[in-house]
Order: sequence, then structure tokens, then C-alpha cells
Amino acid sequence: MAEEKRTRRPQSKGKCTYCGAAYARSGMSKHLLACKHRQAANQQADQQKLTKPKKWFHLLISCDYASDYWLHLELNAAKTLRDLDQFLRDIWLECCGHLSAFRIQGKTYSVSPMGGYGERSMVIALDKILKRDMVFHHEYDFGTTTELVLKVLDERDGAATGKKHWLTIMARNDAPQITCQHCNKKPATQVCTFCIWSEDSAWVCDECKYLHPCYLREQDDYMFLPVVNSPRVGMCGYTGSELYP
Ligand SMILES: [Zn+2]
Ligand SMILES: [Zn+2]
Ligand SMILES: [Zn+2]
Ligand SMILES: [Zn+2]
Repeated sequence: MAEEKRTRRPQSKGKCTYCGAAYARSGMSKHLLACKHRQAANQQADQQKLTKPKKWFHLLISCDYASDYWLHLELNAAKTLRDLDQFLRDIWLECCGHLSAFRIQGKTYSVSPMGGYGERSMVIALDKILKRDMVFHHEYDFGTTTELVLKVLDERDGAATGKKHWLTIMARNDAPQITCQHCNKKPATQVCTFCIWSEDSAWVCDECKYLHPCYLREQDDYMFLPVVNSPRVGMCGYTGSELYP
């Protein structure tokens, strides 16, 4: 896949959900292991005993070709790959109900498995498949694919903070600041889906979009998509997350 050409600052940061401290992706990995506020929240959950202790996985989710976007999640290991798939769709991916699959240690777990191809179902508990330090992949849409890399950073046992609680977004990257490639001044708010892989002028602000060659040629703005905080920005018809804006 072609390199993305975007004008952005390097190393996007995000805030720890527990204490508010800001770190880049890898610094956050270390911080979450040591965060005093996180430890206190987990201890409090254990004392309140709303649930029996459960196993939790700490996942770092990112995208090799769009490294500004990352998530640190903690999720109940009894939940399924399908639950994780749905969450990824909700926060980063869903545009028009495309197929998706996890690839884990040479096996494919599909949202719509085809037995003849040896695909397995996603309806299987995370605990049955994942182990600490495991790296695996998720693909959404086999046409304009968004490929994510998932790493199991840690696991622990503890009570949930609520009866139905199964997932915590422990940290998420702040929206990258992308500058308009026409005026080089204002923040880009739209991206041209025709030019996103091939040109240096795909990212535009609200005013400069009307100067963009594709707009001038077509006299229409249907080729633009909004700039949103997701590695799927500018792909297919993706317009951002309603549940996790
Ligand atoms: Zn913290
Ligand atoms: Zn789509
Ligand atoms: Zn501009
Ligand atoms: Zn264009």
C-alpha cells in the first residue's frame, strides 16, 4: 500500500483515562502499567465486589501505515472476537457493513465464515485464543482494506467496575492536527478520496476545497470525506464514529 502523504506533527499523544497524563503510544504502554490512579480504580473495584474477579486483557491497537491512530484497551477475556470486532467497527471502521476478519497465528476468524476456505467463526472467547505478548491482525473491508495490528500487552485478574462493564478505553490518540495542503495554514477538515494516495493536495480546509482540482473538474464535492480521528479517514464512505466521536 502506498505511503500516506500528510502534513502532521510526529508522535501523536493521548491522555490516560485514569489520571489525564499525556503520552505518545509507547510511553502510554509503560505509564498504564504504573499509573497510580489506575491501580486505585482497580483496587476499589475489587473491594466493591460488584463482580467476581475476571481476567482482563490489555490490548494496544494501531495501524502500521497510519501510526498516529492508536488505542489502549482493557477488555474482559470472556468476551468474544465478535465483540471486539463490533467495538472496532463502532470506534474506527464502520462505513457500509463490509466483511471483516481477524488473523491470529495463521488462522482466520471471519465475521461471516466460509467453511470451504477453512475460516473460523468470531464467536469464540478471547481467553481461548489470546496470550500475553501475542500480536495479531484485523482487516475490515477486503476492497479498501483498513488493517489493524493488535498486541496483547498484559493480562490481569480483577473485578469489573460495573455489572455490565466489559471494556475500558484506557487511552486514545488525540485527533492528529493535519494542515490544509493548499493554504498550509488552516486545519484540514476534508480529504479528497480521489487524491488521498497519489497527490500532495488531498487534505484541504473548508475554503480551499473549492480550489481543489477534483472539485473544479467535477463542479461537485462528492469526492470529499470529513477528516476524522480514525485510521479509516478518507476510505470508502467513512465519515467517523457516532458512538466514540
Ligand atoms: Zn494515568
Ligand atoms: Zn464502505
Ligand atoms: Zn486551506
Ligand atoms: Zn482530488
